[in-house]
Amino acid sequence: MKETEGNVDTDTPHEVKSLSIVGFRLREPHHSTANHKATPEMHEAVSKPSESQQAPGKRKNIKRRDLSRFLGTMPPELIFEVLMYLPPQDLVNMACTNKGIRRLLLSIPLLWERKREELEAPAPPPTFSNAKWVSFLTTKHCYTCGVCNVRPDYYLLKYFCVKCRAAYLINDIKVKSMFPGLSEEVLRYIPYTQMNAQFKHNETRLYYSQDVESMKFRWNWYLEDIEAGKEGAKEVFDSFKKERAALVRDMQEVSNSAHRFLDGFNMRT
Ligand SMILES: [Zn+2]
Repeated sequence: MKETEGNVDTDTPHEVKSLSIVGFRLREPHHSTANHKATPEMHEAVSKPSESQQAPGKRKNIKRRDLSRFLGTMPPELIFEVLMYLPPQDLVNMACTNKGIRRLLLSIPLLWERKREELEAPAPPPTFSNAKWVSFLTTKHCYTCGVCNVRPDYYLLKYFCVKCRAAYLINDIKVKSMFPGLSEEVLRYIPYTQMNAQFKHNETRLYYSQDVESMKFRWNWYLEDIEAGKEGAKEVFDSFKKERAALVRDMQEVSNSAHRFLDGFNMRT
C-alpha cells in the first residue's frame, strides 16, 4: 500500500472512469446500531492500518485481543460468512475496536467490496480503498473536531463542520500569510475544494491547511536532496509532482459525480 501525506491518504488511485456514480439508491439498513459510531480518528484507523503491534498489558483490551485471536483461528471462509451478516456501519465500528481486529478485517478486501455494494455505492474514488470508502460513507463526523452528521465536501471527500471549514480551509492569500516563502507552484499539487460555506460551488480554491503543511515538508525534503546533489533526486521529485498533479486532476474530475451520489446517499441515511 502506497502512502501519501495529508488528507490525501492511502491506496493506489483507481481509474476515475470507473466511478459511475449517477443513479445509486440505498437500501434500508438491516438493523440499527447507530448508537455506536466511529470517530474521525477511527475513520483514519480504518483508512490507514498501522503495521505496528498493539502494546500489550492493558487489561481492558484483553477480551478484544482475544476476540481477534479467536477470529484468527477460524477458517477465512467462515469469518467471511459471519461478518457478512454485519451492516456496513457495524463492520466499520468493529474495525475500530483494536488493531488486531482491524488488521484481520482489512485483510479481507472482498468483505469491504460486498459492504460497499450493500450500500449501493459506486467504486471508490481515487485514493480510497473499499474499506475506506465504506468508512467514509457511514461515518459522518467532522474530520477535525468530530462533531456528528455534517455534510461532506465533494472535492476533498472529507466531512467538515461549518466552524472547521472556516478555520482550516484556506485560500491562496491565506496560504501565503500562513506559509511565508512557500513556492506558489506547490499549490498545483494539493487537492482543493470549490465549495463555499453554504456548500455551493465557488470559483475560489480552498486548501485544507494540514495538506499545505504536509506538502511543504515533503516539498522541502525533495529540494534538500536536490541541493545536496543526491543521485536521481531531481527525477524522483519530477515523478512525485507528476503523480500529485494526476491526483489533483482525478479528485476534481470525480467531484461532480461524487456530488450527485453523496447528495442522494445522505438524504437516505
Ligand atoms: Zn468540526
